[in-house]
Amino acid sequence: MINFTVGPVMASEEILSVGAEQVPYFRTSEFSEIMLENEKYILKYSKAGRNARAVFMTCSSTGSMEAVVMNCFTKEDKLLVINGGSFGERFVRLCEIHEIPYVQIELEHGKKLSKEKLYEYDGQGFTGLLVNVDETSTGVLYDTEMLGAFCEKNHLFFVCDCVSSFLADPFDMDKVKADIMITGSQKVLACPPGISIIVLSEKAVERVNDLKTKSMYFNLQDMLKNQERGQTPFTPAVGILLQIHARLKEIERLGGVEKEVERVALQAEDFREKVKNLPFEFVSESPANAVTPLHPIVGNAYEIVLRLKEEYGIWICPNGGDMKEKIFRVGHIGALSHKDNSILVKAFQDLQNRGLL
Ligand SMILES: *Cc1c(COP(=O)(O)O)cnc(C)c1O
Repeated sequence: MINFTVGPVMASEEILSVGAEQVPYFRTSEFSEIMLENEKYILKYSKAGRNARAVFMTCSSTGSMEAVVMNCFTKEDKLLVINGGSFGERFVRLCEIHEIPYVQIELEHGKKLSKEKLYEYDGQGFTGLLVNVDETSTGVLYDTEMLGAFCEKNHLFFVCDCVSSFLADPFDMDKVKADIMITGSQKVLACPPGISIIVLSEKAVERVNDLKTKSMYFNLQDMLKNQERGQTPFTPAVGILLQIHARLKEIERLGGVEKEVERVALQAEDFREKVKNLPFEFVSESPANAVTPLHPIVGNAYEIVLRLKEEYGIWICPNGGDMKEKIFRVGHIGALSHKDNSILVKAFQDLQNRGLL
């Protein structure tokens, strides 16, 4: 079985071997040290600014998206949400549920956000902007420098969901003046799902400490306070945090964040080159490195996903909602090689020879 989905993805042998060990007790100085080192690496790889902090949430990344909406905004805010697919839609729903006023910029699937369109919202009293940097459902990578400049001009609190773009596409949190960066364990970190990470700028830490959030578990003030000593308020997913630690050190050993981004970029480029002559249309106008969404010109996208799984032992990712029959996605993250790409492309060619593509 080869897994080309966008999470959970394939883990390296080293990370798998950490997962095979007994899970230790965690209220110890040894575990605290690991957590502090995890924070240090995450701040370094996200290029966070002075006095930024990172916390490790035991939940999937949607939990962190919700924690950010709950801990950073109130009914007094007016947010601008970029909605280009299922993950943008998720931020919209979170604003609805928590009754945070918002306006959404809805984009057609696969389309990027132009500067002209963004600046239609200039000077209109917004207080924050939420974006999924790689809208993983359509593989669109938004321009964080353009968004950052807009946020600075309008004094907006800038939230970047980098769940699938962290370590896959270049991102400089300090340079684009983002206040929040969110990522998760099962995307480019290539660990099991269960941990999500929130990086907070100095300004975000201040905001979280000023606001009173009505939640015991999703309380970032409490998380920040505990992380000062490398701990969490409640039992975290200890085993996954140890795997993340091994993975962050692995990335460091292999040349750091730039090298990892380059590795994912080359994996994507190799795949896109190899499928050029197949009857697929590329969906994204501004392709992110983590994933390639494709529209098969003949055949049903969901049936292709099922066939690859059942007849070839290859997992690719289906899309949800109204994209289900039209688009499937091939991931480039996790422990995959260019040789794996060739195996997948050969399976596509076989389907084509069988008249199924
Ligand atoms: C994967 C992903 C998430 C989080 O999904 P979970 O299932 O909650 O882990 C959020 N945003 C983006 C852009 C993603 O790719």
